[in-house]
Amino acid sequence: MKKIFSVENLTVLGIILGILVGVYFKDFSLNLKIIGDAFLNLLKMITVPLIFASLFVSITNLASVSDLKNIGFKTILYYFVTTSLAVFTGLVVVNIIDFGSVQAAANETVNHLNKEFSFKALLESFIPSNIFKSFSEGKILQIIVFTILFAVAVLFLENRKKETLVKVMDSFNDAMLIMAKWIINLSPIGVFALIAYVVADKGIGTLFSLWQYVLAVLAGLFVHAVINLGLIGYIFGRFNPFSYFKKVKEAVLIAFSTASSSATLPVSIRVAEEKAGVSKKTAGFVLPLGATINMDGTALYESVAAVFVASIYGIDLSLTQQVIIFFTASLAAIGAAGIPSAGLVTMTLVFSAVGLPLEGIAVILAVDRFLDMFRTAVNVWGDLIGAKIIDRFVNSK
Ligand code: ASP
Repeated sequence: MKKIFSVENLTVLGIILGILVGVYFKDFSLNLKIIGDAFLNLLKMITVPLIFASLFVSITNLASVSDLKNIGFKTILYYFVTTSLAVFTGLVVVNIIDFGSVQAAANETVNHLNKEFSFKALLESFIPSNIFKSFSEGKILQIIVFTILFAVAVLFLENRKKETLVKVMDSFNDAMLIMAKWIINLSPIGVFALIAYVVADKGIGTLFSLWQYVLAVLAGLFVHAVINLGLIGYIFGRFNPFSYFKKVKEAVLIAFSTASSSATLPVSIRVAEEKAGVSKKTAGFVLPLGATINMDGTALYESVAAVFVASIYGIDLSLTQQVIIFFTASLAAIGAAGIPSAGLVTMTLVFSAVGLPLEGIAVILAVDRFLDMFRTAVNVWGDLIGAKIIDRFVNSK
């Protein structure tokens, strides 16, 4: 009995009911925003302290700076390979699908795009000038940079001083994870409210208006999540990706419902450590970093969107331009924050690089929020697969 009514199953039920209620009871569903937002805020509430504590504990638990280089190098290598593979998959899929017949109207105002994304903005987003401001504004990339530097500095302290700090942060981290568990228990209701609201607000019918594009994105995401990442997990991590998915699926479902990798982080860390047996050291390092810079779904999405918009405008992309898309989409995914629609903003980088009109983004705006759910689920799934693989290499050393 307990198994049927597990939080995971109830969360799936929440998603299904959310879709149905969102379609059939529109006004009621729009009112559910308060509940959805409350759930989201609870998750966000512990995200920043958890990133700080888990990254700190994970780094200070390493024996030395060379250990950090070891796990750091493997993690970055994994991110690099999988993100490239995701963009490549997106480009292959989008080149197979023929958009010849698509006629779309671009008349929505794109106020997201007022701040155009550039390399300068990407660089600036890394370096904090006032760390308290970064904390209060939830600038995750900046918090990560500061925390890594801070934790490495602590590695240089004499043992007596180091131990006190590490013990405090370790307890702090554990307390955050207990809070995460309480919030996870609320996820069936939170997820139900979030999904019902999005479906009622955006109207699921919009998905059909751009069906070829939607299909291209979903097909690409599916191939990447199941085949690419599945095989990488199987070959390099020596684990069965399907049974691993069963263990961590709560995090993927929350990613889907919230469309935010950052808000999902407390859940990812919790399930990776508690259910999937990933060591605290690896989960605490790979997952916070991954939630911010490793976004396979977003990278894939951006490449598909660029080629799709080009075809709508009748622009034939050369091979060189597709190579440029390959690089810029990867960078844009790194630069995207783990929040809803962040990928839409960084997409301007890809569009500008190949000379596509930025208004083109308006064409795909209507379906962005729905596709965001799928790409965020893949973003988080990529991080979780990475955590398991890297754990194997780090611990077998
Ligand atoms: N919503 C995505 C995430 O949080 C980012 C994006 O917009 O693609 O992972």
